[in-house]
Amino acid sequence: MSLFEKFETAKLLKSGLATAGADPTGVVFDTLNSPTEGVVDGRAIILAGTNNYLGLTFNPECIAAGVAALESQGTGTTGSRMANGSYASHGKLEEELADFFQWPHAMVFSTGYAANLGVLTALLGKEDVVLLDSDAHASLYDGCNMSGADIFRFKHNDLQSLERRLTRLKDRANRCLIVIEGMYSVLGDCAPLAEIVALKNRFGAKLLVDEAHSLGVYGEQGRGVAEAQGVLDQVDFIVGTFSKSLGAMGGFCASRHDVLSLFRYVSRPFMFTASPSPAVMATTREALKQLRTRPELRASVWANARQLYGGLKALGLELGPEVGPVVAVRSKDRQTALANWNQLLESGVYVNMMLPPATPGGGSFLRCSISAAHSAGQIQTIIEKFSKL
Ligand code: PMP
Repeated sequence: MSLFEKFETAKLLKSGLATAGADPTGVVFDTLNSPTEGVVDGRAIILAGTNNYLGLTFNPECIAAGVAALESQGTGTTGSRMANGSYASHGKLEEELADFFQWPHAMVFSTGYAANLGVLTALLGKEDVVLLDSDAHASLYDGCNMSGADIFRFKHNDLQSLERRLTRLKDRANRCLIVIEGMYSVLGDCAPLAEIVALKNRFGAKLLVDEAHSLGVYGEQGRGVAEAQGVLDQVDFIVGTFSKSLGAMGGFCASRHDVLSLFRYVSRPFMFTASPSPAVMATTREALKQLRTRPELRASVWANARQLYGGLKALGLELGPEVGPVVAVRSKDRQTALANWNQLLESGVYVNMMLPPATPGGGSFLRCSISAAHSAGQIQTIIEKFSKL
């Protein structure tokens, strides 16, 4: 087999996606009218497939902060923090994140993906064990694989499956990291975090929670599912991203353990990539400020989520198990999902298409994500368009 032959499978996949109409992986937004409306092929489309949970991408204060940083500090840092130095805003954002979680340490990475690679490879080595939820995001799988640790998956959100694996570890349990998400991004279901914390305490393991999709949305102060379930003080590491509710790009880890401050010296995905640009740091800091001071954004995203979930449920559609900012609609099969995705786009609604193997249980889903910036009218239109499928 030649070097390029393996791409035959990708070629087939690509042509299969395009048979039902537009290719869902190739949608181009010519321009954006607002956080909830884009233009595709000259037509205005309601955006129901972004992770723009707080709707801050067009927030005037965030934009002004970004523009001011561009003008005063330039377009990019042109290097890594280890080799080329940090900008003051990197450290400021780290202080602000640590303060947000009321923990001593936080560390900023260039993307959420890099944060997961960076934290897992720093924390885990060949002698260690990781227990990973089977529905965890690809970046968590990749980080665990790169670390060289022994990886055992447990059944998604299944406490008995987790407990069985912890029991089998015996003495190794104290070299074990449990890796889960707060809210899982395909079906929008949350981890039973309080019970997982109780288990990890019993066995002396450590716990990392990826709150990428829950930051800003769950918890009284928007700190995520761990806060919502009252166990934030017992989680060991929180990772997350700036690319969803904060409307920017980048990632972070926060921890109550001093060891996080040493990750900078050993974490290759931190050391060997350029640091986030000043404009990205500025918009992220302003968005974090808004997340902390405008609880009404959280109230809006929840009101919209309830409206969409209730409306789609009333149509008799099969949805994820919980009301939340991610509402996944199960399709009969792959072809139906593709056809319905195209019909929705034709009728002016953009949602995400989630196909196996990137989905729980190999299902095919149309995934909607809700923003605080959606109007009740837009949510009603999304429901109507689903009713026509
Ligand atoms: N973790 C989870 C759970 C995610 O869903 C994502 C992105 N979809 C990431 C990490 C990576 O974040 P980013 O896109 O900011 O690199």
